[in-house]
Amino acid sequence: MEWIILGSGTLEMVPDRSPACHLLRGDQLPWVLVDTGPGCLQRLAELGVDPRTLSAVVHSHRHLDHLADLFPLLFHRSMSEGRLPELVLSGAPDHEQFVLQAAKALYPKLLQTGLAFHKIDASGRPHPLPGTRYRITAWPAAHSQSARILRIEGDSPAPWSVCYSGDTGPCPELVEAATGVDWLVIECTTPDDSRRANHLTARDVAEVVAQVRPKGTALVHLSPLWAAPSDAAAVVSAHLGTLVTGESPHVVGGTDGLRLSLPYGS
Ligand SMILES: [Zn+2]
Ligand SMILES: [Zn+2]
Repeated sequence: MEWIILGSGTLEMVPDRSPACHLLRGDQLPWVLVDTGPGCLQRLAELGVDPRTLSAVVHSHRHLDHLADLFPLLFHRSMSEGRLPELVLSGAPDHEQFVLQAAKALYPKLLQTGLAFHKIDASGRPHPLPGTRYRITAWPAAHSQSARILRIEGDSPAPWSVCYSGDTGPCPELVEAATGVDWLVIECTTPDDSRRANHLTARDVAEVVAQVRPKGTALVHLSPLWAAPSDAAAVVSAHLGTLVTGESPHVVGGTDGLRLSLPYGS
């Protein structure tokens, strides 16, 4: 299994840093897309992935930098001839109503593409993700009304887990969601001196990592205030040097196309 970062940035334009999008991919189906920021179809094309082969699309929340390519993705499906495999759209309880209304206004045929909706309550309890062999758990994020912190787990080829922060400010739910995971894929929007409300700085990230000690941490949602992803990783690692004793946790700056193996180190 691998988690592939397709978009490591925000909606602020940076060459080679697309807005939020990630692909959970195994040797066999099912494949799951997590968030669909603008540019995600292009990133899938670069990988040679036909969106019609996806089993599920999960959304952490519906800000444009995480959502916008959902409708082009459905349009791509609508151009297919013959029966399509079902696509599960998973999101907050009001996600279905939002997608139905938006798709109806844009192009009603988008809804005739074999869709099934799945509600994720933010209860912190795992649920099977329909259409896949994975489990998904959601917690409320400190961001927008229905934003979620997600944890996705599976058992093949060996037990693995990923926590994806989506967008969030510091909150205890993030610590709970990230505890014990192989990879923590966490937003690190700005340097410490440029805090944005309801987002994380490098110091915030280091404090979470120091508490939960994931096997690996990948920094994403990197604004242009980070000249390079490696700069963000260096600052987080420097903070960790003052927060933890012993071996320093593994932190990488996310780049578009970066592959994180699951389980960690496999
Ligand atoms: Zn957001
Ligand atoms: Zn965002």
